[in-house]
Amino acid sequence: MTNVFFEIHSGLPREGPGDDASTVRALALAKGLPPKPDILDVGCGPGAQTLVLARATGGLVTAVDNHAPFLADLRRRAELAGLAGDIQPVLGSMFELPFEEASFDLIWSEGAIYIMGFDQGLVGWRRFLRPNGWLGVSEVAWLRKDPPSELADFWTACYPGIRSVGENLAAIRYGGYEPAGHFVLPASSWWDSYYDPLMARIVRLKEKYRGDAEAEATLDLELGEIELFRKYSDDYGYVFFVMKRTD
Ligand code: SAH
Repeated sequence: MTNVFFEIHSGLPREGPGDDASTVRALALAKGLPPKPDILDVGCGPGAQTLVLARATGGLVTAVDNHAPFLADLRRRAELAGLAGDIQPVLGSMFELPFEEASFDLIWSEGAIYIMGFDQGLVGWRRFLRPNGWLGVSEVAWLRKDPPSELADFWTACYPGIRSVGENLAAIRYGGYEPAGHFVLPASSWWDSYYDPLMARIVRLKEKYRGDAEAEATLDLELGEIELFRKYSDDYGYVFFVMKRTD
């Protein structure tokens, strides 16, 4: 399973919904960042948003992921973009970040805080922010009440922590932050850099692994996730939340 999983998830432009314009839009909600801010990008993956953060702020972006091949992708991309000096890839775990307290003006995490859980991420990463520092995260959330049962069953199995936007805003306040703004990512940011290339990959791997039941099950699970979004994208979405540490 693991091998097929990483065969699916390698060399893709992104490893979750997102797009450069949304990163810039969310960044604009973090008002009053110092010039050349110190930024931490948690669960950076292949680093699409890391490049945007570096380019848009002129700061130093420390980018953490626990999967070395993603960091190699990021290094390559940073060099091509002429940003290698502004990005520091670090192999490590978001559960035990290897940094001093109060090291960063801004912590960023697109499509990755769910790995710790929204509340655990907010609370766990807070101490790495300087007083009145900023946090920007994207997280899957219910956009409507009473989702269809097929969809609710999928998310309860895959990510029981999924909540409404209002519940996440309450969690932000409870976690020691003031929400500065939030918005739903457009459906195009699921398709263009994530689901479309992912689907092309899966179709190719279905040929390769025809008859291998375990591999086919992994591939079908991913296809099922994509089909649910096609059907029910009004019911849930990725939401960008930007918040300020309160002190
Ligand atoms: N931000 C990227 C990747 C999101 S996918 C994007 O939007 O494209 C989630 C990322 O978290 C993956 O790159 C995965 O390797 C990483 N990850 C998973 N568990 C982790 C952990 N314990 N510590 C750090 N990174 C982790």
